[in-house]
Amino acid sequence: MEFCPNCGSMLMPEDGVIKCSCGFEKSLSDDDLEEQYKFEGEKNKDLEVIVTDNNNVALPTTRITCYKCGGTKGYWWTVQTRSADEAPTNFIRCAKCGNTWRSSN
Ligand SMILES: [Zn+2]
Ligand SMILES: [Zn+2]
Repeated sequence: MEFCPNCGSMLMPEDGVIKCSCGFEKSLSDDDLEEQYKFEGEKNKDLEVIVTDNNNVALPTTRITCYKCGGTKGYWWTVQTRSADEAPTNFIRCAKCGNTWRSSN
């Protein structure tokens, strides 16, 4: 909910634009819509990170049990999302078959 900075009236969005009876006008594309695009971009960014790190041979190794091939050696890395509220996510990749998944801890 938004209120007019000029007269304090409650503002109703219409066709992506907020209009007030006093003449105040504000486009919604700046803040509200950008938030949604950011969220989508965040997801895609995670996928990109996985692809990028697949080429990194210097990743630390750990003992795993791959649910696809049963391999016991895996690489792991951490991805910190841009949101400071979220804890970093650990990813694990099977060294044998390349299967990649998010670690539960
Ligand atoms: Zn107004
Ligand atoms: Zn595997």
